[in-house]
Amino acid sequence: MAQIPPPQKDAYALILQAIDGGIYRPGSRLVESELADRFGVSRTPIREALQRLETQSLLTRDGRSLIVASLDHAQTAELYAVRTELEGLAARLAARHAAEEEIAVLYEMVEADHALLHDPEALARANRRFHHQIHLASHNRYLVQQLDLVYRSMALMARTSLAAVGRGEKALAEHASIVQAIADRDGDRAAQALKDHLSIAFVVRLKEEAASGSAARGGGVTVPRD
Ligand SMILES: [Zn+2]
Repeated sequence: MAQIPPPQKDAYALILQAIDGGIYRPGSRLVESELADRFGVSRTPIREALQRLETQSLLTRDGRSLIVASLDHAQTAELYAVRTELEGLAARLAARHAAEEEIAVLYEMVEADHALLHDPEALARANRRFHHQIHLASHNRYLVQQLDLVYRSMALMARTSLAAVGRGEKALAEHASIVQAIADRDGDRAAQALKDHLSIAFVVRLKEEAASGSAARGGGVTVPRD
């Protein structure tokens, strides 16, 4: 009788996390054997995970190598357009369906995130948690799924707009306005506040791209988003 193998780590999730956390940036080459060593996973699940990530357009071919994909200018704009509408909807639904406890958590998050203003990477992670909390507060599982897909592609953005000078503080003020509108049960205002927040974030990102000369070239702060 064959022994029952130990539970296999989820290679797909591990690689995705590594891309999301900036360990592998857009343009980085992913090598099966190195990934297997790094994560302590055998090569077959790594190969399957790489295939899956390639199918999802998170990885792309460069000759015979697999590299982390990058988003060009048009893709970034398309992603923001979808994200803005879906997150606006999430805020609108959250204003209708969020439990008082969920709103209390959102308030606490905004308050606690002020302690992270000196650390753009930590702030970017906190930002993601905040937005995810709003997604959940919509109480619409299909919307949460769609937003998870959008956020997966956002892992391919090479830097956070929260690293821009003064952006962190303004972003938190915008978060506070969103939460206030949700707490007031004002769906229109909540949706608009969230859309405005993302529109400003997109403008900041465009300015940074213009300054750095390339949408795809990462560098500096590596944690994506906002
Ligand atoms: Zn935000």
